[in-house]
This record gives sequence, structure tokens and C-alpha cells, in this order.
Amino acid sequence: MEKNMNWNFDNSYSRLSNAFKEHIDPIAVKNPELILMNQDLAKELNLDFTKINKNELSALFTGNILPEGSNSIAQAYAGHQFGHFTMLGDGRAVLIGEHLTNENKRYDVQFKGSGKTAFSRNGDGRAALGPMLREYIISEAMHNMNIPSTRSLAVAKTGEKIMRDNPLQGAILTRVASSHIRVGTFQYVAARNKKDELEIFLDYVIKRHYPELISSKNKALELLNALIDKQIDLVVNWMRVGFVHGVMNTDNMTISGETIDYGPCAFMDTYDPKTVFSSIDKMGRYAYCNQPAITKWNLSRFAESLIPLIDEDEDKAVKSATELIDTFGKKYEEKWLDMMRNKLGLLGANSKDKFLIIDLLTWMHQKKIDYTNTFCHLMNLKDYDVDLYKDNNFQDWKKRWNERLKENNNTPEKYLKLMKKINPLIIPRNHKVEEALDAAEKGDFNLVNKLIEVLKEPYSQQKNLLEYQTPSNFNESYQTFCGT
Ligand code: AMP
Ligand code: MG
Repeated sequence: MEKNMNWNFDNSYSRLSNAFKEHIDPIAVKNPELILMNQDLAKELNLDFTKINKNELSALFTGNILPEGSNSIAQAYAGHQFGHFTMLGDGRAVLIGEHLTNENKRYDVQFKGSGKTAFSRNGDGRAALGPMLREYIISEAMHNMNIPSTRSLAVAKTGEKIMRDNPLQGAILTRVASSHIRVGTFQYVAARNKKDELEIFLDYVIKRHYPELISSKNKALELLNALIDKQIDLVVNWMRVGFVHGVMNTDNMTISGETIDYGPCAFMDTYDPKTVFSSIDKMGRYAYCNQPAITKWNLSRFAESLIPLIDEDEDKAVKSATELIDTFGKKYEEKWLDMMRNKLGLLGANSKDKFLIIDLLTWMHQKKIDYTNTFCHLMNLKDYDVDLYKDNNFQDWKKRWNERLKENNNTPEKYLKLMKKINPLIIPRNHKVEEALDAAEKGDFNLVNKLIEVLKEPYSQQKNLLEYQTPSNFNESYQTFCGT
């Protein structure tokens, strides 16, 4: 049975060499039940599910029915996981196809948790309800904070139990991305040591994601340069909102520059640069403050995969790639400073800005103050916990800030406008996410829906926000898991 809901598939990846993927359908599930459907995203994709009954939608979003035109594949990729190179691939996901919108924008539509593939290794190919809902909530929140991200179109329960530490309810997330091509995909192709394959793949990626580079003299080098910029923009955005990705392996870094893989991620409450939530990140490799350095490390692995295409002469290729990678530090620092200036409403640049910014962060760290709420306080939007901000050191800092605010014809109207655009009032607070997931596990989806709703407008002053603004009281002990 096949249903058409305006899907408009054109599956370019499945036309590439079979070395890059396995053709496989999702494994049918016992008792599909649609739990969440993202109507806003459906609209953006020009899809119309409104005339389809829930049973059919449930079958569709678990892969029991495949839409006309889909061509389901599991993608091969490799990656450095916590620094170690491994062959990976979609072990619990299939790409059902690439959908084109009316404006010809291309999106991967992927089912995550869809059953075993050639890349499953020892895994069962399945996913649990909690982590799939978590990905839905946080990925959509990121998008709504104007941070590039994969999106979530639907979550459906499979009606099957999966075995983890305890038996859990199985679920499938429909993930939408401008593609799922990763640094690790390049590493996979490069590891095959066939220059012609690497060349075809590079051309494919440039055509799909960076068409402006099609006629570049050195496409590999230009792509590296473009990805450096894209990934700096992304990590600066993460730093802006206190997002800790948690598992920045090279297979979890996209070539499109979208945030991907919402396994162990979480948002920092109290400002602490060393914040780590992931239970497996014992050394703090992916701590909040390490994210820029890891981004650079991952880009270096990306550069390595491109070496044969940069120059016939390997030494020359390495030299050119290294020169580009070496631009990372300065570029990052500039973009980070600009972002922090915006968070503080500052216009123009003053050589002392860096000290002003670092002194505020240091104060937050020393006094264990909430990161998000401090910026709300500075925007005069938060009238509780005022005592924290009566602190003498903070008041001294505020005088310096007020002086700096006067520069470059700034006005309260101007700086508040600037600040309100980039300082979220609400983030997915860990206790709110957990509370919603606990209820969902028991069959009550009200809190999940409510959380998704308030996170749609993270920059507006909605009513009754207080419960979403209160920091978790388990900040330091909160642990997240990889979500398998
Ligand atoms: P992730 O931690 O989600 O980035 O996954 C890392 C690798 O493990 C990827 O190749 C996944 O496809 C694979 N993987 C994760 N969970 C499972 C599972 N339950 N079954 C099979 N493969 C899995
Ligand atoms: Mg992953």
C-alpha cells in the first residue's frame, strides 16, 4: 500500500555508488502509533497530512507503509569517536528519500530507530521513546532559537519493547535535514583509497550544499574553507545559548553546518565552562568550553580526508590545508566576541570589550549564577532572584557595562532590541525535559506538548514563563546518555 501526501522525492544519494550505502527498507513494526506530528514543519515542506487518518499516519511514520517515490537506504560513514577512528554507518536509521519543496529545496527524510541494517554491528537497530522525544524537543528548540539544526517531523511508537538496562518502549523519529552527509562520510569515502570515488563525492556535495563553489579552482580547499566558516558560526551559536552537544564525534558533524545528533546534549544552567552532562564523557573531551577546540580538531580530520584532492603533491596539499585550519582560532575569536557583544547590546568594537565579557563570565562562574537568566536580568526581564544581582562585584561590573553602552550612539531602545533578538528567555531546562519525558513514558504527552509549545518562541515574553526559567536544582549531578 502506498500513499501520496504531496511527497516529491528525488533520491540523488541513492543514485550514487553502492559503495556509499545499503539499499534497505525499514523493518516493519508490530503496533505503530503516531505520538507527535510537526504540522509547522509539514507546511514548510509543502506536505499535507491533514486528510490522512491516524492509523495511516502511524503506519507511514514507522515505515510500515513507504510513500510513493521513496527509495530507502542506510548510509555508510566512518568517524572519530572520542578520538578513535571507526567504521560506522546508519545502524538504526534509514533515509527514505530526498523530498523537494515547491521552491526546490532538498531535504533528507530519515527514520531513526527503523531496524537493523548492514551497519548495525551489535545493535538492535531500534530506538527508545524517551530519547526520540528528547531529540524532537531539543532539535526544534534549537531551530526556534535560530540555530541551524536537523528538524523533527514526527515521533511514532512501534508498539514493541526494546531491551536496554530495562525494557523500554520502542519509537521512531522522522528526522528532516538538508542532508545527513557528515565529516565522517568523507572519512569513509577517503578510507576506501579510490581517488575517483572521492572526487565524485566531493562534486556531489558541492553541487548539493555549496553550489557557489562549483567553478572554484581548488574545490576541495574551498569546501574546507567554507566548512570552517559554517562550523564556527554553529559552535558560536551553541556557546551563545549554553548548549553542550556532548558527543562531537566526526560522524556527528554535518557538512551542511546543521546541528545533528541529540543523544547526550543538554543546556547549561549555572555558568561553568567545564560543564559536561554525558555519562560516557569521563575526561570532559566535549565539555562546554572545549567545543570550539573540538570543532577545529574535527575540521582537521575533514581536511585530512580531502588531501588527495587538494594537490597531487601531498606535502603541498598538507601545507595548504594546514594554513586554512590555522585561520580557525582568529576567526572563532572574532565571531565569538561579536556574538557576546550582541548579547550585551554593545555597538561597535572596543579593545576592552573582551575584558568586560570575561569578567562577567568569571563572576557568573565564581558565584554559580545561571547563564541564561543573567542576560534576562540585564534586559530587565527577570524580577526574581534579584538578590543575586545585588552582589557588589556584579554592581561594579554593571557600572562598567553601562559606561560602555553609551558608546557609538547607542540607546536603550537600540541595545534592548539587539539583546532581545539573541538572548533566549527560555531554553529546554533539564528538569522540564525530564519531567515531560517521565510523563510521556507513562502515556501522558501533555507536558511534552506544552514544552514544545513554549519553546516555539524562546525570545518572546510569554505568560507564565517562570517555571520554564527556573534552573534545575540538579545541575552538577545531571547526567545524559547516548540515547541508544
Ligand atoms: P550515535 O551515538 O547515535 O551517533 O551512533 C553511533 C553509531 O552507533 C552509529 O553508527 C549508529 O548507527 C550506531 N547505533 C547506535 N545505536 C544503535 C542501535 N540501537 N542499533 C544499531 N546501531 C546503533
Ligand atoms: Mg550519530
